[in-house]
Amino acid sequence: MADNCVFCKIVRGELPSFKVYEDDKTLAFLDIHPISAGHTLVIPKAETARNIFDVTPEDWRATTETARKVAHAVEKAMQADGVNIMMNNREHAGQVVDHPHIHVIPRHKGDGLGQWKHSAYKDGEAESLKQKISAAL
Ligand code: 5GP
Repeated sequence: MADNCVFCKIVRGELPSFKVYEDDKTLAFLDIHPISAGHTLVIPKAETARNIFDVTPEDWRATTETARKVAHAVEKAMQADGVNIMMNNREHAGQVVDHPHIHVIPRHKGDGLGQWKHSAYKDGEAESLKQKISAAL
């Protein structure tokens, strides 16, 4: 977490937000600049982490469980055709706010928001990458 962490300020009630859910460990509130209407952010309340790389297993479990509940509610309330669950981690992955947060984004048929492009592995590349990633675990 950073000194100027806006989500910490929301947790502390120092900044306003449109809260949709709260429990002892997590908070969910509307994103101020939604990708689609109903776009909701789910965060751990603890002010100890920046992203997936330093969030505690306990806070992560609580946050993902809240995201699961919120996904159901957002899809139902927005009469959506699906939701994207997304998280940016570190600056070059698009993270702007240094407090762990999961995006729950309602999607509608034909909304034009698109999907990420997929590519293909060259011969032997997948086997080599599998070994590299397995070894890092
Ligand atoms: P990131 O790019 O870090 O994954 O996403 C940060 C998100 O936080 C953005 O979608 C942005 O619109 C949202 N955001 C930034 N500041 C505030 C704020 O003060 N209040 C709320 N509700 N959302 C914010």
